[in-house]
Amino acid sequence: MSDTAGATNPTTVWVMGDQLDRTVGALGAARPGTHRILMIESQHLLERRRWHRQRAHLVITSMRRLAADLHADGFEVDYRAAPTIADGVRAHVEQFAPASVVVTEPNSRTGRRVADVVRAIQVRSDQFLCHHTEFAAWASDRRSLRMEDFYRWNRTRLGYLMDGDQPAGGRWNFDVDNREPPPKDGRSWPEPIRTPLDDLDRDVLASLPETCWGADPDGTWPTSRREAVRRLRHAIDVVLPRFGPHEDAMLTTSWHLAHTLLSPAINLGLLHPREVCDEIEIAYRSGLVPIASAEGLLRQIVGWREYVWGVYWLWGPAYADMNELGATRPLPPVYTGAPTSMRCVEHTMAAVHDYGWAHHIQRLMVLGNLALVSGVRPAELVEWMTVGFVDGAEWVMLPNVVGMALHADGGMIATKPYASGGAYIDRMSDYCKPCRYDRTKRTGPDACPFTTLYWDFIARHSERFERNARMIQPVRSAQRLTDLDAVRRQAVDLLGRLDAGQL
Ligand code: SF4
Repeated sequence: MSDTAGATNPTTVWVMGDQLDRTVGALGAARPGTHRILMIESQHLLERRRWHRQRAHLVITSMRRLAADLHADGFEVDYRAAPTIADGVRAHVEQFAPASVVVTEPNSRTGRRVADVVRAIQVRSDQFLCHHTEFAAWASDRRSLRMEDFYRWNRTRLGYLMDGDQPAGGRWNFDVDNREPPPKDGRSWPEPIRTPLDDLDRDVLASLPETCWGADPDGTWPTSRREAVRRLRHAIDVVLPRFGPHEDAMLTTSWHLAHTLLSPAINLGLLHPREVCDEIEIAYRSGLVPIASAEGLLRQIVGWREYVWGVYWLWGPAYADMNELGATRPLPPVYTGAPTSMRCVEHTMAAVHDYGWAHHIQRLMVLGNLALVSGVRPAELVEWMTVGFVDGAEWVMLPNVVGMALHADGGMIATKPYASGGAYIDRMSDYCKPCRYDRTKRTGPDACPFTTLYWDFIARHSERFERNARMIQPVRSAQRLTDLDAVRRQAVDLLGRLDAGQL
């Protein structure tokens, strides 16, 4: 696609693979004739990490489609494969001698390091609703950075679902309405929109390295702006009205329930969070969507998504190394394809294999919970989720895994660990009844591994947890267990089987 050497040395706009929004930053200011576009596929990045096939396909195909769209709109596009990103920039500069290379502030520290190394000019990003410097200013005079406080501040500032200075519907938080267990009426759920794969999809899939894993895509995830907008329309009109009440429920009969599935498109820049929030507002005001569902999705975007983005930058690289619970276990084989007889894990892993996606409760209370109670090293789960999920990114997964799932930050994000035995999973899913384990038992051959490992986890960290007011009750309960010694012996056996991929 690179067809002319620039006689007038236009400025190069370097577009990274998670910055595909034509309205944002450097690309938003680019014009054909005065700007040349640079996009790079890095062999090193692709081959060094164990990507899910759908994640790798999604990023590469979306980049190539954007490049084609830009070319069709008159831009000269230098789309190149290179050993590394930095090699690609250097080769481009050597070939075209641009007046300068500008890039929108990269979304990861790794990206910013590369931009620094190649001396690209970094322009401010408006890909998020709250720039991380604004987040830092908000955080500067606070002792604790509660997501709920940030959410209310950000929402008020942005004016979403607000009646004057009060929240629409009279409450900031509809979580209690949105925690219903799965319905037992056998209802169906909105079927995702799918786009038939084309030659480009097939070319990209054929070129992926052997190290990639997981199923091929079935067209669920949009790889162009046009298809992403179509998903947004569907999500607002068809899915969102049913989203709220069962957003935490888990069912073997549906991998998606009424989740909007928009996060991969938002995280790559195919959709801007502002347009999603605008649509939520319109849908609520027109009476199409109940407040609990509208607020539930708005909270995920204006609250949680922007919050993890803010703390990722605020707390810096040292946060990635935190491991307050001293977890040292390598990632168990069940995360990389070993079969399991734990029905909850089996079904969640099937969704990850088939779609590179699982919803927030499956991530937190099944995959994260198992890693937490078994003591998996945080960096290993961060890496697995970052490259294994279609919406994975360093800024997403670091706070979510280190802080939320594994409590490895000692409580900077969540005031207590999100650990649970089988009881929570049973209440929120249809996993347990046919499972070969009994979620009420903590010892014996049919004891639920989650229940056994939960009590072992509490006992293992009782000294630390006794200092946490929210954990005193579980610690006392563990101390009162008459069979605690047997539970802990059983946990040793379970962890050995987990490590061997035989649980
Ligand atoms: Fe998972 Fe335990 Fe329920 Fe089986 S009984 S599905 S292992 S929580």
